Amino acid sequence: MEVQRSVYREDHEMFRTTARRFIERECVPHTDAWAQAGKVDRELWRKAGREGLLCPMLPTEYGGGGGDFGHAAVLSEEMARAGVTGPTFGMHSDIIAPYIQRLGTEEQKQKWLPRCASGETILAIAMTEPGTGSDLKGVRTTAVREGDEYVINGSKTFISNGLMADLIVVVCKTDPKGSGSKAMSLILVEADRAGFRRGRKLNKVGQPAQDTAELFFDNVRVPVSNRLGGEGEGMYALMHELPQERFLIALGAATQLETCLQHTLDYVKDRRVFGQTVWDFQNTKFKLADIKAQAVAVRTMVDYYLGEHMRRRLTLEEAAIAKLFSTETLGRAIDEMVQLHGGYGYMLEYPIARAFVDMRVTRIYGGTSEVQRELIARKL
Ligand SMILES: Cc1cc2nc3c(=O)[nH]c(=O)nc-3n(C[C@H](O)[C@H](O)[C@H](O)COP(=O)(O)OP(=O)(O)OC[C@H]3O[C@@H](n4cnc5c(N)ncnc54)[C@H](O)[C@@H]3O)c2cc1C
Repeated sequence: MEVQRSVYREDHEMFRTTARRFIERECVPHTDAWAQAGKVDRELWRKAGREGLLCPMLPTEYGGGGGDFGHAAVLSEEMARAGVTGPTFGMHSDIIAPYIQRLGTEEQKQKWLPRCASGETILAIAMTEPGTGSDLKGVRTTAVREGDEYVINGSKTFISNGLMADLIVVVCKTDPKGSGSKAMSLILVEADRAGFRRGRKLNKVGQPAQDTAELFFDNVRVPVSNRLGGEGEGMYALMHELPQERFLIALGAATQLETCLQHTLDYVKDRRVFGQTVWDFQNTKFKLADIKAQAVAVRTMVDYYLGEHMRRRLTLEEAAIAKLFSTETLGRAIDEMVQLHGGYGYMLEYPIARAFVDMRVTRIYGGTSEVQRELIARKL
């Protein structure tokens, strides 16, 4: 009853084997320690770089894997399959590095991309602010030009890799009086710039090994050559890259759904209540049959869009459909599967409980479900 997948080639499956082994060896045993520390080891990034797991889509001339989106997708699936949420390799490699690759000058690319691929430089992207998230036009962080420098002031919040990032793509208003999309630009800020400060590690409901933090910019001076792309083109750049970010979240959700279903099947077939297994109740069979049907629907849809994206045809609305449907379906299904575990479903040592808290955010970050609905509705 598995969905036959035709999107991947042999080289993708070889990459999957490398990724799976790396995750089992280098990530799974450290998950608890990282959760305690609130972040992963820095050395992990270098190890991932050495194994070719960072920036798999980046051309080899910049130190990348020279692959395509299929390689990025495979890694995201394997992370989801293992339930490992601490290392944000996908965000670094397939969400943020592409901004530099697509918009950067040759000098910026030569300077940063090889370090991103080796794991020496960890990336973050800072869009969200305390006062604005969904409505990106409400960004208040300013970058005011003074001679050949920008002076940046403002604060950002909920930034993934906030504590570990060496280089941050900051969404700034370069036209402080402007309110439209042309007021926004993307500026690279190195974490050792004077006036840049990281706030506390935010205390999240889930994904405890993921370092999410506030960032503060107090008269941070960067050369104008740190701007990514043209002045006023920041919003356009975000709109161009966000579909891929959303689609990666959808891909992870599809795999999580299948994995959680398998964990639940294993559990209910083993657990005995009233002299029979939990699986023996018709209620359990019906609930899990529903979830199986949903998992197949999500997988089929996501694989269709994966093929479209590999042909560079995935639209903003289609990425929104993929993210909305897969994450909402996952959320409802996890809740049902927690119930089938009874009290054990509430204990974090069980994968279903981990998924219950770790996956909730997939309906919020990368644009909330409501924002996805807005995007879809615009085309109806
Ligand atoms: C763990 C985590 C990691 C994150 N990582 C990053 C990161 O690395 N970089 C970054 O920049 N941001 C990051 N974010 C921020 C994330 O993208 C935002 O939280 C998200 O976009 C929502 O913005 P908000 O929190 O300000 O909510 P708000 O925009 O205040 O939304 C509040 C509610 O209003 C609803 N709403 C908003 N607009 C509409 C509308 N038009 N119609 C109907 N309802 C609407 C929302 O759906 C939501 O339910 C992260 C967030 C979390 C939780």
